[in-house]
This record gives sequence, structure tokens and C-alpha cells, in this order.
Amino acid sequence: MTPLPAFADNYIWLLQHQQQVLAVDPGDGQAVLQWLAREPGAQLGTILVTHHHADHTGGLVQLVQATGARVVGPALETLPVPHSPVADGDSVGWGPLQWQVIDVPGHTAGHVAYWAQVEGQDPLLFCGDTLFSAGCGRLFEGTAAQMLASLDRLAALPTSTRVCCAHEYTLSNLRFARAVEPDNAPLAAYEQACAARRAQGSPTLPSVLGQELAINPFLRSRHPAVRAAVQRHTRLLPQDDAQAFAQLREWKNEFR
Ligand SMILES: [Zn+2]
Ligand SMILES: [Zn+2]
Repeated sequence: MTPLPAFADNYIWLLQHQQQVLAVDPGDGQAVLQWLAREPGAQLGTILVTHHHADHTGGLVQLVQATGARVVGPALETLPVPHSPVADGDSVGWGPLQWQVIDVPGHTAGHVAYWAQVEGQDPLLFCGDTLFSAGCGRLFEGTAAQMLASLDRLAALPTSTRVCCAHEYTLSNLRFARAVEPDNAPLAAYEQACAARRAQGSPTLPSVLGQELAINPFLRSRHPAVRAAVQRHTRLLPQDDAQAFAQLREWKNEFR
């Protein structure tokens, strides 16, 4: 599995089974074609798309023209090329894997995630711009309640799941996470490990879901320490879980 860097901080995830390649959210077609050219015999057969934003779909036209790959994407969203529409509960076969589609609205209205069990390895999750390591996507088209419910769905997956996020936002997310939970020891240890990886020029991803549950404030918005921090910051008592989550997300939006 390869996180192919694109633009400033995107990753295009590539999986290979024998000669067959699967790409996720190819915002940059040229980057994928150059990668394919370096892999003798590799053929791009399937593209999974999580949501319609250009940094995830900008390469679709070029890649479909060059390879004829099938494109699988959210039923509720329009993409630059025709695609097989999928929604919650659908499954997509690719090589030995069956990708389960999970609706995760919030960042966009139709955002989907793809999860699969992998024989002899930990499961894989492609979650686009919904879940980041130590963070979550901005609410462009959905509500805080929707995003919270979407993150709850992902949080219920097996804790060994490898989380393949679409952006390298980890270190800046961790600065915010530390402001929210300064006393979280696993968070401090994870931040050190991620800083070391970035210093070597390596991705911090994939992350592991169990790790995220221990350090990601957006997966921990009901935790007493996170609640207390949000309340200290806003000086408001949230009415419910969704409002507390919304306040946490707004705090992050203005955090520098
Ligand atoms: Zn996006
Ligand atoms: Zn993005």
C-alpha cells in the first residue's frame, strides 16, 4: 500500500494486487500515471472516490481516458466522470477484498468511506476528509450532528483498522489536540512519534483506529476531559453531544 503524495498535503492511496492497482481519491492524474509507469505491468482497474472535492477528483478524467478504469463513488454526489454509485451497506469487490461502503456525511453531504477486512493483515479504511489523524474534516455541507454520527460509525470499526486519511494534517491537528487535552499522555507520546516521522520525510499515515480513539479530540468529544476543555473555552454549557461537538469544531476552526 502506497500513500502517493499530491499537491501540498494530499495522499492518493494506491493498493496493488498482482498486476491490478486500485487508487483512492486521485486528485492528480499525472502523479498516478507516473507511479504506474514505474511499476512494470501494473494496471489501474478501479478508482474509489470518497467525495466530490477537486483535490480528490481532479485526476479522474485523465485516468479514465488513459486506463479505462472503473470509477466507484458516492451515489449522492456528481463527479467529473460517470461513476458506479454506491451508498451505505453496498459492497465493492476488488481482487480478494470486499469494500464495505459507509455513509459519512458532514464534510460533504454524500461523503462515503470504504472499509475492508484483509486476510492476514489489519483491516483498511479509506475515509477521505471525514477522519484525519488527531482531527476531522471541516463541515462544508453537513451539520455537526451528522459529522458526529459519521465519526461514531467509524469509531465502531475494529480498533486494529488502519486509517488511510487523505491529508497529512497530523502535526497541526496534534497541536490543537494538545491544547484540548494537555494531560493526555498517549497524545504526547504520539505527537513525538509523528514529529520524528515527519522529520524523516515519512508520512504519519496510516494511523490506527485504536490510537485515534485515545488521542483524537473529535472521537473523544463526549470524554469528560474534552467536555470540560470545550466548556472552559466557550464558557457555555452545551445542550447535547452534537452541540459540544460543534463547539469543539468551531474552536479548531479559529485555533492558531
Ligand atoms: Zn474535501
Ligand atoms: Zn481533501
